[in-house]
Amino acid sequence: MFDKILIANRGEIALRVIRACREMGIASVAVHSTADADAMHVRMADESVCIGPNPSSESYLSIPAIVAACEITGAQAIHPGYGFLSENATFVQVLEDHGITFIGPKAEHIRIMGDKITAKDTAKKLGIPVVPGSDGGVPDFEAAKKAAAEMGYPVIIKATAGGGGRGMKVAQSEAELEIAFRTARSEAKAAFGNDEVYMEKYLQRPRHIEVQIFGDGRGRAVHLGERDCSLQRRHQKVFEEAPGPCITPEQRARIGGICAKAMGELGYSGAGTIEFLYEDGEFYFIEMNTRLQVEHPVTEGIFGVDLVREQIRVAAGEEIEFTQENLQIRGHAIEVRINAERLPNFAPCPGKITQYHAPGGLGVRIDSALYDGYKIPPYYDSLIGKLIVHGRDRNEALARLNRALGELIVDGVDTTIPLFRQLLEEPDILKGDYSIHWLEKWLAKTYG
Ligand code: ADP
Repeated sequence: MFDKILIANRGEIALRVIRACREMGIASVAVHSTADADAMHVRMADESVCIGPNPSSESYLSIPAIVAACEITGAQAIHPGYGFLSENATFVQVLEDHGITFIGPKAEHIRIMGDKITAKDTAKKLGIPVVPGSDGGVPDFEAAKKAAAEMGYPVIIKATAGGGGRGMKVAQSEAELEIAFRTARSEAKAAFGNDEVYMEKYLQRPRHIEVQIFGDGRGRAVHLGERDCSLQRRHQKVFEEAPGPCITPEQRARIGGICAKAMGELGYSGAGTIEFLYEDGEFYFIEMNTRLQVEHPVTEGIFGVDLVREQIRVAAGEEIEFTQENLQIRGHAIEVRINAERLPNFAPCPGKITQYHAPGGLGVRIDSALYDGYKIPPYYDSLIGKLIVHGRDRNEALARLNRALGELIVDGVDTTIPLFRQLLEEPDILKGDYSIHWLEKWLAKTYG
């Protein structure tokens, strides 16, 4: 096992990893930008290194600075958290060259899943059901017309190098196709420096269901059920739950089994998430994330496992601690993302926290790097915390979420807390009856 791990991240996820390290008796090294000198992850780690100025391109994304921090402190492994360098195959390669262990999958698997056409192809070959769509990239408008006619309208045009919901355009008919195709291409070029696009059948009212998998890198893999992350704004998740309110145990066993088998065949190592759209009882693969996800705590809640500890163990060459048989779901968990944002436009709202009080009690978990007097810097993501509740069933989890939101105090900046209190009054949310479009429609209706 490692003696010392460096965490190449900040905020709540850095704390999350430091906590796992401490429980395992492993020393932790925080890295930070100048803006984060007073951040909680710096205070909580055993050691810290300043790796550069405020912009993440010069600090949290600087591979040479992070490798140097490892060498100065003698850290043997790096946990990347999510975002930043977590899905950067070059970073993984550089670490390998320096004899530093990357706590995550092999560079090759990050590369395959980072290119959406290759990812979809690979998924298909491994027996994972995919959304009907074009055969790989669509080079020009003529090819787009032909592909759309074959799959039937509406269609969605997506960037091969896409991420974060950018470079996607929907066309309801052939009349809309030309503009949608050209816009998607130019957006893809601007955002990712690559204008290759592909096409898919646009599903009308799907849910976003993702399967958590875990592999030992040597051919054994298990699944930890699904999360429903359908409540999204601009393709960004805001509310996640497990198990999925509409997924039966039989469906879970089937899709989970397919994913675990596929990841075993791939020789996948560590935590990963296979994302699907789900409609009328069918699952359609859209992409795979080769890292720990923001919403991993809902899975930890219902299975009672520590996914970060497991990531560290597998990276150190140990066996996965759990088996498919002993992974049993207990109850229901919900996570809400507390962002420093001002409603109704969700404009980022950095600033000084004048008062912070975290809720407590049975079944309540808060993952946050906030403290009284903390100044949220304007340079990074607006996620400032996650409130996760666990109950014996969905109704108990909902009641607990409402109670915990009532106790949570974050003063000094605007946050998304009021949004969740409002959502908990909506019959559709209480019933679990929502698709990926529900939140956008509700926001338009409620805030205009
Ligand atoms: P990104 O990597 O940019 O997040 P994804 O492929 O994961 O892109 O898609 C993000 C979201 O876009 C999905 O969660 C869903 O809301 C929507 N979406 C993607 N593909 C389709 C599709 N074929 N039909 C309907 N909605 C889709």
